[in-house]
Amino acid sequence: MSPAPLARSGDAAAAPVLRERGQHEVFCGLTSIVWLHRKMQDAFFLVVGSRTCAHLLQSAAGVMIFAEPRFATAIMEERDLAGLADAQDELDAVVERLLARRGDIKTLFLVGSCPSEVIKLDLGRAAQRLSMRFAPEVRVLHYSGSGIETTFTQGEDACLAAMIPDAPAAAPDAPAELLVVGALPDVVEDQFSRLFAALGVGPVSFFPPRRAAAPPAIGPNTRFILAQPFLTDTVRALRERGAVRVPALYPFGAEGATQWFTAAATAFGVDPVHARQTLAPARERATRALARHREALAGKSVFFFPDSQLEAPLARFLTRELGMRPIEVSAPYINRELVDEELAALPGDAVISEGQDVERQLDRCRAARPDLVVCGLGLANPLEAEGLTTKWSIELVFSPVHGFEQAGDLAALFTRPFARRAALRV
Ligand code: SF4
Repeated sequence: MSPAPLARSGDAAAAPVLRERGQHEVFCGLTSIVWLHRKMQDAFFLVVGSRTCAHLLQSAAGVMIFAEPRFATAIMEERDLAGLADAQDELDAVVERLLARRGDIKTLFLVGSCPSEVIKLDLGRAAQRLSMRFAPEVRVLHYSGSGIETTFTQGEDACLAAMIPDAPAAAPDAPAELLVVGALPDVVEDQFSRLFAALGVGPVSFFPPRRAAAPPAIGPNTRFILAQPFLTDTVRALRERGAVRVPALYPFGAEGATQWFTAAATAFGVDPVHARQTLAPARERATRALARHREALAGKSVFFFPDSQLEAPLARFLTRELGMRPIEVSAPYINRELVDEELAALPGDAVISEGQDVERQLDRCRAARPDLVVCGLGLANPLEAEGLTTKWSIELVFSPVHGFEQAGDLAALFTRPFARRAALRV
């Protein structure tokens, strides 16, 4: 059984993409540490950066840290940046002190930043050296969370890609296993595990794993399905290990989740009738949950600024399941392979844009006067002051929004800004 193809609504995938390069307003990859450190409870993220990086991380994670956090910043001082000190030696000393104090750390991520990249501090060499020194108790990996030319979800992509070479190899004759790739809240993973078991799809593992020290085995028997669309480097690294992608829409909304689970079931040879029957109750629940939000959103226009990389699947969800009208759907970058099906489901008159020249895009947005603007925090307040209704895109990454049971909550994230504005008007 192949998953039901989506009707091509007007096919924005075939339309020319507006590419812009100019000033862009996005958070950097360090932000993803906020959800990654909650996901992998045995990992520690040590940012090698400046005081700015430390402030960003602290404010993104919120101030309510009661337990000892599992992230920190090794602050590079002026003399490091000026090359007056041996930053590698200083880093070794910081790591030594940290690991002596925190026996619970099993995987340590050294996370690069703009300052460490500017001075070309070789964190790969540091990770190798420190891994040899602290093995087998602690593995030391590295990746970049720098904001130079990247957006915040690319931090997760870089982190997952860094973990793959270290994952054990699956035996060449091992039976097929499904790997769900992209960080999901534990509650969503549990729901997905139950549905996969009912479908007869398995064994199933999730990546990133809850314990970074126990990554799943990966090999040519691995079939992987993406839960997030921003994982270009991770996909590449998985393919280098022989793993095979199961293409699907992303599991947002009743339609997206149905197509996503059906694609996995098809890849594992599940009887189509059984798959349909198994998914039907969850699909009906999700459709019912969406109905009242559809009343509030149908016919309203939406404009996406480039931020989370979730823009294409969310625009598809808002258009097809809630009746909204996308004016512009913009993403920091577009990997056609990973989002083409999503773009194909959008109306042909929606502008699809990649990258950003923020002033020009603001002009287009003001001229269009959309009912809802989905954008980063930095743009939301000024646009609200101009009378536009906004939704912070970062909230969509921090909230459980995947799958059937979360479809109503996902829709509510888009109805809430209208309710807030109506309340302010009273
Ligand atoms: S990594 Fe770069 S963009 Fe991110 S906080 Fe540090 S200096 Fe700023």
